[in-house]
Amino acid sequence: MSLSFTKKNLLGFCFAIVLVASLAFISYNAIYKLVAADKWVVHTQSIIQKALTISSKLTLADDKQRSYLIRNKKEDLRDYYALVEGILLDINGLKDWVGDNSSQRSTIDSLHKYTIDYFSQFDDVNAIERTGSPNQHNLFILNSTSRDACLSQIQKIIREEQRLLSIRELASKEQALNAEVLIVSNAILGILCMAILAYFVQSTFKARSLAREKLKLSESLFHNSFNHASVGKALVSPQGEWLKVNPALCNILGYTKEELVQLTFQDITHPEDHQLDVHLLKGILGGEIDTFVVEKRYIHKQGHCIWIQLNVTLVRENGVPKFFISEIIDITSAKSLISDLKAKNEAIKHKEEQLTSFIEHSPAAICMLDTKMNFIAASKSWRESYLTPGQIFIARNLYELFPHLDKKWKALHQKALAGEVISSSEELYITPEGKEEWINFEFRPWYQHIDIIGGIILFAENITEQKQAKEELIRAKEEAEQAAIAKTNFLSTMSHEIRTPMNAVIGFTHLLLQNAREDQMEYLKMLKFSGENLLVLINDILDYNKIEAGKIQFESIDFNLRELIQNIKGGLLEKAKDKGIDLKVLIDDELPEMVKGDSVRLTQVLVNLLSNAVKFTERGRVTISASISDTTSTHTIVNFAVRDTGIGIAKDKQEFIFESFTQASADTTRKYGGTGLGLAISKRLLELQNSTIFLESDLGKGSCFHFELAFENSKIRKSGNALELNPEKKSLKGVHILLVEDNRINVVLARQFLKQWEIECDVAENGKIALEMVQLKPYHLVLMDLQMPEMDGYTATIEIRKLAGERYKKLPIIALTASAMNEIRESVLNIGMNDSVTKPFNPDELYSKIDYYKSGLSVV
Ligand code: ADP
Repeated sequence: MSLSFTKKNLLGFCFAIVLVASLAFISYNAIYKLVAADKWVVHTQSIIQKALTISSKLTLADDKQRSYLIRNKKEDLRDYYALVEGILLDINGLKDWVGDNSSQRSTIDSLHKYTIDYFSQFDDVNAIERTGSPNQHNLFILNSTSRDACLSQIQKIIREEQRLLSIRELASKEQALNAEVLIVSNAILGILCMAILAYFVQSTFKARSLAREKLKLSESLFHNSFNHASVGKALVSPQGEWLKVNPALCNILGYTKEELVQLTFQDITHPEDHQLDVHLLKGILGGEIDTFVVEKRYIHKQGHCIWIQLNVTLVRENGVPKFFISEIIDITSAKSLISDLKAKNEAIKHKEEQLTSFIEHSPAAICMLDTKMNFIAASKSWRESYLTPGQIFIARNLYELFPHLDKKWKALHQKALAGEVISSSEELYITPEGKEEWINFEFRPWYQHIDIIGGIILFAENITEQKQAKEELIRAKEEAEQAAIAKTNFLSTMSHEIRTPMNAVIGFTHLLLQNAREDQMEYLKMLKFSGENLLVLINDILDYNKIEAGKIQFESIDFNLRELIQNIKGGLLEKAKDKGIDLKVLIDDELPEMVKGDSVRLTQVLVNLLSNAVKFTERGRVTISASISDTTSTHTIVNFAVRDTGIGIAKDKQEFIFESFTQASADTTRKYGGTGLGLAISKRLLELQNSTIFLESDLGKGSCFHFELAFENSKIRKSGNALELNPEKKSLKGVHILLVEDNRINVVLARQFLKQWEIECDVAENGKIALEMVQLKPYHLVLMDLQMPEMDGYTATIEIRKLAGERYKKLPIIALTASAMNEIRESVLNIGMNDSVTKPFNPDELYSKIDYYKSGLSVV
């Protein structure tokens, strides 16, 4: 910029000089011409003057001639000749003056001739005189013609010169005007030029002073930027000495300025980088390169290694290396960052390779795509499922390979690319061939870095066959469920059908036993035992079936735990006595009398354990114990244990006996009977109440089954005597009940028991009759069979409850059901009955319930 500005100035300057010179030359030329013109005017005027002088001299010579002739004085003659000489000289001079003007020259020649003639005439006259004395008459001899001729020639010359003079004066005037105009305009131009010149001179000076200031400024800038630069800067001699260093460099290297200039850069270069320096210096000093940038190591004053980026430029003067300008940047931390980054990138790359390889070798159909949906990898299974053998797919676009993929799939891919994980366990996929395939898929993004999605991974599994199999299974399950329902219904019906005759068998055996002969006693007892066994078997099968079907439900009612245990003991006391076994009950004093829970299921478990204990014990003792394990404000956890001194169970059999239909040894059934279902049911019943049954047993020494069960604390302090049995005297005299039963055997049997207990009983053959009868008499209680002709027990109960009067709402109705299924109990309670009794009756249970409800107390 500065150079072009100077050039411009120089050019302007030169132009102005040339212009001024030209103007000066033009002015000079004009003046010269004017002077020349004036000179010609003066010259002409001189000629005229000269001619006039000649003319006057001629007149004077004429006078002298005449004077001589008249006066004859020598002085006149002398003067005359002096004039003649002067005139001739003047004429000759005049001839020179007119120069090459030929007409004037010839006129002058004529003048010269006439003058000579004129003078000659005098000489002639004079000669005459010399012979005599001058004679006045000679005066008249003198011819004035030649003199006039001379004068006329002079006039001619003068005229001619006057003509020339007027021309020359005109020319001179013009010239003067021209010169005047030129001089004025040139003066103006000259002034302008001078102004331009002055401008250029001034701007040149200004530029120079600016340049000087700039130089000064740049020097100060250089100084400042050198000293205050954040990067290290140095001037280094070609030999490597630090000539000038800035504070930043001192800071980087840990040396002071004074220390550093005592050293060479080789002194602080890391030994491993010396060779690199040698190579680079050779190149730059040899002129192969002008500058270089290199990363190398220096040794800090404190001894540790620092990484720097060195930027070196060599300054030469006339080709001779003067010094290096070095720029040094500390890149130690950047270097470690880069190496960290490199390591991280390596790790990422490694992970990516692992991922790719994992996908490649995955047995599942997986493929990996980048963000543009180009393939990166695909597992063998994927390739086999979706590509033709040998098809090239890496780096190819998914949609190019599968142009049939519709918007739905593309939208899902985009969602995955946006970071979502999309999956479906069942989705219809139409193959390029138009075949329907069911797939289980998952599209998820994969990450290049923590939050940068690199693409997506597609997982797809062809589940068409599984789906078909599943549908088959669902069909099979539905069929199985149908079958299970049919089975349950069948069992329910069968249990009803079996229980009804069993009711009769066991009931009548009971009755017969009361009045039997001694010889019949044993058979009747065996009949009762077999009947009861058969009933247990039926109940077990039904229970097991219920548990398996997941249909078992637990109730929560208040009951007397101590009494329940005593009753269980009572139920088996006779059997134990028969076998000569001591049957004991141990109840913790702290055990609450009343608790809340499912007494039926607890009874079932304890009866099973206790009857097993009695069954498998030949001598010794069977103990049932109950103690408190833990109590809270809401619950009491009771520990139950049933111990015996019986045959015991071998260690290797202990875990199997809880399985259904499993017994400890093959001859158990033969010796002791049983089905192998009792413990399986007990275990399951406890598990469903979050309890576990444990067994400790030694073969030949005895067994102990124990478990813990949580009961809600009952709000009832002590139960009434509702379930209390009076084994001595059972009488419910004054109680009037309606028995609704269509089976005549059951009627006879029930009547027998009721009669024993002194209960008055009317019978209705079906629900319809019962509905009428309850309105005729105020019965204390109704025993209602469920399945009857005309009107079943359910409808009859509903109708009774509908009858007007509080009495019909409160009238206790106990269902007589041959089915032990829990649902039956639930449904009878739901439609408004108060309780249920399973046929065949347990007389004690029936008695207790009648006793309990006789006063119209409707407690379930
Ligand atoms: P069941 O008693 O009908 O055979 P269980 O499931 O109640 O079926 O019992 C399974 C088996 O466990 C019995 O057959 C018997 O071998 C063994 N077992 C059960 N309780 C005892 C016990 N107290 N002493 C010895 N063995 C027992």
